Amino acid sequence: MDFAHSPRTQDLLARLTAFQEREIAPREEPYHRAMLAGPDPWTSPVPPVIDELKAMARAEGLWNLFLPPGATLAGESIGAGLSNVEYAPLAERMGRSLIASEVCNCNAPDTGNMEVLLHFGSEDQRARWLAPLLDGTIRSAFCMTEPDVASSDATNMQATATIDGDEVVLNGRKWWSTGIGHPSCRVLIFMGLTDSQADRYHQHSMVLVPLPTPGVRVERMLSTMGFADAPGGHGEVSFTDVRLPASAIVGGPGQAFAIAQARLGPGRIHHCMRLIGLAELALGLACVRAGERVAFGKPLANLGGNRERIADARIAIDQARLRVLHAAWLIDTQSPDALGAVSQIKVSVPNMAQGVVDMAIQLHGGAGLSDDYPLGAAWTIARALRLADGPDEVHRGVVARLELARHGIGRWAPSASSSSSSSSS
Ligand SMILES: Cc1cc2nc3c(=O)[nH]c(=O)nc-3n(C[C@H](O)[C@H](O)[C@H](O)COP(=O)(O)OP(=O)(O)OC[C@H]3O[C@@H](n4cnc5c(N)ncnc54)[C@H](O)[C@@H]3O)c2cc1C
Repeated sequence: MDFAHSPRTQDLLARLTAFQEREIAPREEPYHRAMLAGPDPWTSPVPPVIDELKAMARAEGLWNLFLPPGATLAGESIGAGLSNVEYAPLAERMGRSLIASEVCNCNAPDTGNMEVLLHFGSEDQRARWLAPLLDGTIRSAFCMTEPDVASSDATNMQATATIDGDEVVLNGRKWWSTGIGHPSCRVLIFMGLTDSQADRYHQHSMVLVPLPTPGVRVERMLSTMGFADAPGGHGEVSFTDVRLPASAIVGGPGQAFAIAQARLGPGRIHHCMRLIGLAELALGLACVRAGERVAFGKPLANLGGNRERIADARIAIDQARLRVLHAAWLIDTQSPDALGAVSQIKVSVPNMAQGVVDMAIQLHGGAGLSDDYPLGAAWTIARALRLADGPDEVHRGVVARLELARHGIGRWAPSASSSSSSSSS
């Protein structure tokens, strides 16, 4: 396997790096300050800088980089056509900023939702929703997790998507619906029970719900360890007798689990790619702080075990990057080992990033926990990703089952696994 950057990646990475340093970096802190200063994150206007940066990124060809090779819309080629190995360094670079992914239209949950539409949407669904999502003019949400049931086992889902003639009727309550608070959120993908008599993995459907639609109500916005994550945020959403034409179902009734499997693989590895960048950001800040600040007559870097901590962080990041590239290569080569590899990195990378950011916070002293540095937000992102897209334990379960099966113990049937269909952002 060869993880050298392809000429396309080299070119895009150089341009993306320059763009982030020149255009995004000087605007990022003022943007976060403006978001924090508003009286209410859900009613304050979104600073126009994101849309301005989006227009610049698009003009520079740094747009929709996540789209897989061969992606088309209405017969036209779309996206950069990069393999996962090619995309990984770019996602990592975007991960060094808290806004770059959105600026380049490569942010969750929109990327996952776009992939659902790309691979499973009807022509009408793609024209109505994929086109504006690719343009970055609307945003979207994915509604799978429910407050009332343990959603790491997605077969627990209680919300319903009932077929009634040529309509589908939605009822239930979802939460942790990322992006639902964004003023431009115009569509969500709802996952619900359609046929309780079908086999366990063909009972649920995915339905495209335009916003606003009568019966859909954002009950409240959640905070993540005190962070609003505005303007997109994470919401609790109720669905009461929401009636839509049956043509709003993606891929046909009962197909939700198959689609979720396809959606979650790329979504999980993209999170891991970005987290490597986030860990690099934290390590860079830690090194600068450790070099510049003096205590007991020495730079912090020369005190106690701080050099070892910095070295351990470098080792951990580099190991994680290689594991992510390996998983990307397994996906690109359609290896059956990709499933286990993605579950492995979905455990190891958020834990690695959480540890590195935590070390950086510690080296910053009290400043590390203040809004003067992005470390508190970075730690929260890494911590949240030990739950979002399936908790660590569920992915460890996948890895363990595959390992035991290698030794002839237990039976492994990917299509019958609840664990790889855990809720997602
Ligand atoms: C920031 C953030 C964003 C999110 N975005 C979205 C989104 O956009 N859309 C969406 O639908 N969901 C989203 N989620 C929800 C997320 O996917 C779920 O929280 C996650 O799948 C776990 O489901 P649960 O919260 O119901 O936990 P539960 O299922 O109640 O599990 C709780 C705990 O039980 C333990 N556990 C569960 N299964 C096992 C097992 N097999 N072995 C051992 N222990 C186990 C684990 O410790 C687990 O953390 C998001 C979550 C967060 C934090």
